[in-house]
Amino acid sequence: MCEATPDAEVTLPDHEHSARRARHFLSEAYCVVHHARVLDEAELLVSELVTNAVRHGGPPVRVRVHCNGTAGMQVSVSDGDPRPPVRREAALEAEGGRGVALVDIVSDRWGVERVGGGKTVWFVLS
Ligand SMILES: [Zn+2]
Repeated sequence: MCEATPDAEVTLPDHEHSARRARHFLSEAYCVVHHARVLDEAELLVSELVTNAVRHGGPPVRVRVHCNGTAGMQVSVSDGDPRPPVRREAALEAEGGRGVALVDIVSDRWGVERVGGGKTVWFVLS
């Protein structure tokens, strides 16, 4: 019954290891339904987005999980830079930095919103 799963949020340090922290956070966030289906993909994408947020966005870097039953599991990564993420098609083979291009391929849908003085990049897996 993932509709009953409370939203979870964590603020991460502006640090290279934060992608690992974000994966751990997702693995602990309580949603049995979506864990079984999409946890691997969610961990992959949150790693990319948190790496981007740390490298290019800056603090505060926050990760939020919102589960909405059949509509899917939405994961949001916020940072302190209002500029939208840059899509780097040429860097597909590079370590990290695939970011948005990978999110576009793997997620059901995704988007970017300006929030306060920064932005939120979110994706949905169902
Ligand atoms: Zn769920």
